[in-house]
Amino acid sequence: MKQMVCDQSVKEAWEKFKKLDEKITHYSSVTALLDWDQKVMAPKKGRQSFSNAIGTLKTEEFKLMVSDEMRDVLSVLSSSDAIEYLDEKEIAQVRERKEFYDRSKSIPPKMYQEYAVLTAQANDSWEEARDKNDFSLFKPDLEKIVEYNKKFVEMYGYEHHPYDALLNQYEPGLTVEKLDPLFARLREKSIDLLQRIQQSTHQPPAEIFEQSFGVEKQKAFNRYLLPILGFDMKAGRLDETVHPFAQPINNKDVRITTRYQEKNVRAALFGTIHEAGHGIYEQNISDEFEGTALLTGASYGIHESQSRFLENMVGRSKEFWTFFYPKLQEYFPSQLGQVSEEDFYQAINIVKPTMIRVEADELTYNLHIMIRYEIEKGLIMGEIEVKDLPEIWNAKMKEYLGIVPKTASEGVLQDVHWSFGGLGYFPSYSLGNLYAAQLLNTIKKECPDFYHHIETANFTNIQTWLKTNIHQYGKLYTPNQLIIKTTGEELNTDYLVEYLENKYSKIYQL
Ligand code: ZN
Repeated sequence: MKQMVCDQSVKEAWEKFKKLDEKITHYSSVTALLDWDQKVMAPKKGRQSFSNAIGTLKTEEFKLMVSDEMRDVLSVLSSSDAIEYLDEKEIAQVRERKEFYDRSKSIPPKMYQEYAVLTAQANDSWEEARDKNDFSLFKPDLEKIVEYNKKFVEMYGYEHHPYDALLNQYEPGLTVEKLDPLFARLREKSIDLLQRIQQSTHQPPAEIFEQSFGVEKQKAFNRYLLPILGFDMKAGRLDETVHPFAQPINNKDVRITTRYQEKNVRAALFGTIHEAGHGIYEQNISDEFEGTALLTGASYGIHESQSRFLENMVGRSKEFWTFFYPKLQEYFPSQLGQVSEEDFYQAINIVKPTMIRVEADELTYNLHIMIRYEIEKGLIMGEIEVKDLPEIWNAKMKEYLGIVPKTASEGVLQDVHWSFGGLGYFPSYSLGNLYAAQLLNTIKKECPDFYHHIETANFTNIQTWLKTNIHQYGKLYTPNQLIIKTTGEELNTDYLVEYLENKYSKIYQL
């Protein structure tokens, strides 16, 4: 029987929901701060017992999200009658909590607990396997993780493809059916372009970066750059970690990290611009979402589009360095004093198949992602077994990039994602590139002085456009709604293909 809902009961349920939503948001804000502290500040010896404390707090947060009280208020607020009483923002708030409730409630608490222990343990076995270059040390844990995920997929439910259930955790609404043709076209065009680049007689000068760049100078340059790009240092921080990341505590406290290597000036330079893109997104989410689940980015893919947009479409453009290269030369006169702006621009855009995803250029990066996507689908469908992964990995590297890793560490063991159970995560990175190129196409039309703003380091108009069209909305819209609202169409591979073709045709004189 359909539940009858009256005005009064909706009001009561809404009041309860609002308090619960806010309480959960406060918990996650605090656990986010603790996570950041573990990665950035905590002394090594204190980390273990601190982890236990964080675990306790996260369990309390989880209990609230799947509580009977949550079930009761959601059942009232998500009924078709209640929706008439709620506005757009309130409906989105309910949608977010309901999605999590439905998914998590399907997993028995005992299983959830076992999986949490397994993934914590797998982080160690993965690290050890990678350090010792021995896949067999990680294999038993990975086999268990894949088995759990096969079960989760059945519990979460899906319409067409089991992998959809995993994708949806990161990119709500995305399916294999939609993604396969996007990736197929991107792959075909990327491989064709890559071949032409490799055959070109013009190759940019790579030796520019085979020099030492003092770490203190790198830090100073990053601190000079961040506020100009639009990252508000009064609502954020920049720290150092081995693996750079962005951690929002709330929209006025967004913490990003970077890493400095003397022999690799590009890592900190573009790593910082990348994380700043994530950070600026979070800082510009509307204050009206404070204390709700909507105070974060629309999806992993949309988030990544903001970091890639700033890192690549802006930070690796010619116009960007028209302004900033003379400054960078001031910081590094002996290394770059004699290097022309054009050579520098070409060198930061060198395309070359390499083993490691995180170091890949804009073109080959997506091929790394497709390898992982194909493998994950195979694992979930039972078509690929974990024991065969090193061989399958190498075969796919050969097929997609034309190179074969010599060791498991530079092959199948390079990424942390599978150890924490993040199957379904990888496509977000390429989605980010696709969204970013589509947004670039729109911003160039709506903001005709786009490249002039970059060349004069005037980022206000660009950031205002991003804030107005993407950032302010937080999680109010689904990724698909957001991209249609902003660009007038669904995600379309053509924009990235066109962007890559134009950019590299000039650099490689194709
Ligand atoms: Zn990112």
